[in-house]
Amino acid sequence: MEKYGEHTRQELFQTARKACERAYAPYSGFKVGAALLGESGKVYTGVNVENASYGAAICAERTAFVKAISEGEKRFAAIAVASREEEAVPCGICRQFMYEFAPDMDVITCEKGGTLKVRKLKELLPEGFSLKKEPRP
Ligand code: ZN
Repeated sequence: MEKYGEHTRQELFQTARKACERAYAPYSGFKVGAALLGESGKVYTGVNVENASYGAAICAERTAFVKAISEGEKRFAAIAVASREEEAVPCGICRQFMYEFAPDMDVITCEKGGTLKVRKLKELLPEGFSLKKEPRP
């Protein structure tokens, strides 16, 4: 897995922040963007896409994953998640969805003051559900 430094974390976060402007959030007004770094080095962006039928909405993180998986990417180093102002952290559904592919991935968010926070996905979802036979660290 490619290592990446603070600069790349900041870049990933800025990519997520830019992406959030493309979010479709007419109901909540809470625009979220994500930037997912695949092992190939490619970055996949995602935004939340809401729907008049609320349950049909999808979060930015899952949008990014669906794009990446559908393009053949299978392993991931990190995901940055951003909103316009407040810290945006992945919801429970997204944590489980992402855990399927990358429990060791870094999740990069940003506190209101501008400080980046980096946590492993498995810290955000301890003992996530998995049917895979190999033991998870
Ligand atoms: Zn979510």
